[in-house]
Amino acid sequence: MNLVLMGLPGAGKGTQAEKIVEAYGIPHISTGDMFRAAIKEGTPLGKQAKQYMDRGDLVPDEVTIGIVRERLSKADCQNGFLLDGFPRTVAQAEALETMLSEIGRQLDYVIHIDVRREVLLERLTGRRICRNCGATYHLVFHPPAVLGVCDKCGGELYQRADDNEATVANRLEVNQKQMKPLLDFYEQKGYLRHINGEQDMEKVFADIRELLGGLSA
Ligand SMILES: [Zn+2]
Repeated sequence: MNLVLMGLPGAGKGTQAEKIVEAYGIPHISTGDMFRAAIKEGTPLGKQAKQYMDRGDLVPDEVTIGIVRERLSKADCQNGFLLDGFPRTVAQAEALETMLSEIGRQLDYVIHIDVRREVLLERLTGRRICRNCGATYHLVFHPPAVLGVCDKCGGELYQRADDNEATVANRLEVNQKQMKPLLDFYEQKGYLRHINGEQDMEKVFADIRELLGGLSA
């Protein structure tokens, strides 16, 4: 099964990726891991990517695509893969189509974990951290017994600057704008499937299983 997983920050992509990998035995291929591995192995493309990253520049598409191509040709991808964080642009999605057709394969599904923006905002801005011991809480999902006070050490809880509403809203908007053309592209190709990510995470995964049930692993 050849899958792409998509979702905005806070949609629960990481959790679902873990569950898919565990249930179906396909490798989870995230862009970050892939870059780190290529750099560590010192492949020619890994070396190129490192040069850009060391300068703080974005890695150009041709390098990223080359690294994905190398990764997908490895033995553990023979029965499928779960791509996460790639493709990020329509150009990359087109390159992926070409790459797969060259090896006689195609995507089965692009799974979009769909969560409304106001729900994401609530999830992402609710995080609180203990100033004293670093324990993390969430106002809705994992609240402390006493508001503003750490259960473990009695320390004061605070909100990280980049978890504030304006910053989070901006991050979501940037991501959403970037994702829209990709969703359109995959919709047109017929690969796109929306999964309701506002449910309990076990129910989200049950929906994914139901979708994947028809595919041979
Ligand atoms: Zn504490």
